[in-house]
Amino acid sequence: MRLSTHIFFGIVGITVLSQVVFGTIAYWMVVNGGLEHQQTMLASEARELAEDLAVPLAVGELSRTLAEERLGHLAPDIDLLLIENHRTGRRFLVGPWAEQEGTGLLLSHILQKHQRGDRSGGRLRVNGKDVLWAGVTVTGTPYDLILLDRPRDMGWGSTLATRFLAVGALILWVAVWVALVLATVISRKLSEKSAALRHQVTHDVLTGLPNRALLYEQLAEALDDPGHGGVSVALLVIDIDRFKEINDTLGHHFGDRLLLEVGARLKALLEKGESVARLGGDEFAVLLPDATERQALERIERILAEMKRPVMVDDIELEVRVTVGVALHPEHAADLDTLVRYADVAMFQAKEKGLSHMFYDGAADNFSVRRLRLGAELRGAIARGEMCLHFQPKVQVDSGRVVGVEALVRWNHPTLGLIPPDEFIPLAEQTGAVTPLTLWVIEHGLETMGGMRKLWPGLGLAVNISAQNLRDPDFISVLMEALRSSGLEAGDLTLEITESVMMQDLAHARSVLQGLHDRGIRISVDDFGTGYSSFAYLTQLPLNELKIDRSFVRDMVHQRSQRTLVHSVVELAHHLGCTVVAEGVEEEEALGLLQAMGCDVAQGYHLSRPLPEDQLRLWLRTRAGQRNTPPSDQIVTAGS
Ligand code: C2E
Ligand code: CA
Ligand code: CA
Repeated sequence: MRLSTHIFFGIVGITVLSQVVFGTIAYWMVVNGGLEHQQTMLASEARELAEDLAVPLAVGELSRTLAEERLGHLAPDIDLLLIENHRTGRRFLVGPWAEQEGTGLLLSHILQKHQRGDRSGGRLRVNGKDVLWAGVTVTGTPYDLILLDRPRDMGWGSTLATRFLAVGALILWVAVWVALVLATVISRKLSEKSAALRHQVTHDVLTGLPNRALLYEQLAEALDDPGHGGVSVALLVIDIDRFKEINDTLGHHFGDRLLLEVGARLKALLEKGESVARLGGDEFAVLLPDATERQALERIERILAEMKRPVMVDDIELEVRVTVGVALHPEHAADLDTLVRYADVAMFQAKEKGLSHMFYDGAADNFSVRRLRLGAELRGAIARGEMCLHFQPKVQVDSGRVVGVEALVRWNHPTLGLIPPDEFIPLAEQTGAVTPLTLWVIEHGLETMGGMRKLWPGLGLAVNISAQNLRDPDFISVLMEALRSSGLEAGDLTLEITESVMMQDLAHARSVLQGLHDRGIRISVDDFGTGYSSFAYLTQLPLNELKIDRSFVRDMVHQRSQRTLVHSVVELAHHLGCTVVAEGVEEEEALGLLQAMGCDVAQGYHLSRPLPEDQLRLWLRTRAGQRNTPPSDQIVTAGS
């Protein structure tokens, strides 16, 4: 039954029920009230008659004719008048019931009551008939008068019943109309509300486009539709390149406007039966419910062409690039979930290969599925405490003293084992998880170093920083707080940042780095030599350390050209007033060469692999023992 029908019958039902209940009560009250009234009238008629007949009775002159005449005059409707001398028992009857059968019985009932002392009157039921009576003693005489009358409620009651019926029907009629109107209004309001609610749960708030849930519904419909027989369903997943960066750099307002624009452009390209959805973040999906591979490709080309037009937001013109991944049903995937996953995988595959679009390629999928899984699990992994740190020592080249350690994060995955950072840091950067990850590394690293202070005071800590950390407005304050609670000095902490990260937004990077530098934190250029080759910016940044990339250090032993290059970097660093660190030192020979070049610090497998805290402690102790000096003498603070 529809809701409006429910409401209609509900209202009519309540009306009928209340009419029955209250009508019955009212009817009962009115009828009883009528009888009482009649009873009172009867009693007063009896008194009047008694007064009127008092004299004739007292002088013994009352005849039947006189009694009939007085009765006809004073109480013409009365059915019976009994006059009885209670001393002699003589009585006579006047009125229409005087000659009637059954009157005797009636009277004997009444007289019984009357003699029991009830002289006033009442209601009696004899032989199934209701009778009203009123009795009175005529003052100054031995006579009693008793008047009998039928209750006249029947006439009264039937008019009342008719009135009740009429009013009831009227109320019911009104109720039916009210119910109809109310049912219509309420059901319209409710259906509007539920439509709005459904829209809310199936659409994206920002762009107003269908969301993932609705896309799944539409996809399920498309896959179930027997009408599309033979032709593919194509699902395109579209991801905006570098969206996170754009959002972080230009602000959420800009990011939102960009999403709106991309959504609108995708929508404008739709043809009948097709749909576009926002899957979340910067990911959109286009569903082509009946498209061949060639048609899907044509559509991708149109999408890519459409996205080439620059986006203007608040006078800022931005080039937007997107990456499209496509999966087809039934060619690639038989069911809905797989289709969505494969389109996503295809998009990641395209990103990895630096292509604008890709159809799902099962052969290349293993890696992507793992990546997708890791990307999805990453944030939770930090919260679940699955991350751990290894520390790789940095050693002063000429003295052999340990100046500090570099914290390198690993993911201790519950089923996949230890995962190296090269595999998940890029994912963390893509998903934005790198900000909390780095903060965890800093806090945890500082805490560990704080615990090692007693044995190895001044042992510095180096941490790798991503571009997103520099854009995090809370970065410096969180970092300073972590430093304070660890008990380490600002100068004990080195942040390693790659050239490319610094160059992404030089002006901003410079101001953040300056802020860190002003607070005494050391800044190191990581993987130096692999990024932008222009050295001009080096002079513009507050740097303390250059870290020569391990590829140069490794090749230096066998390639003269690389050796020259490393030497030049050492000189350059010193000219800039920076310490120079060589990473990736794998052989003794490299260490010798670095010493000859005047390189300050070395790091690499030859000295030590990255170690968990307990092994690092052991390594430091063993090294101190070998050098035959107390551990604390081994340490020099890494100066700038
Ligand atoms: P990186 O900062 O250049 O770190 C040095 C990497 O080189 C480490 O790899 C280390 O194990 C490796 N290495 C050290 N000595 C040698 C050597 O003698 N030979 C060779 N071939 N390799 C050596 P790992 O730990 O796998 O880290 C890889 C990269 O992951 C790091 O490169 C860094 O860019 C990134 N990473 C590690 N931890 C973090 C982190 O906490 N945050 C961020 N943002 N990135 C991190
Ligand atoms: Ca590093
Ligand atoms: Ca490095």
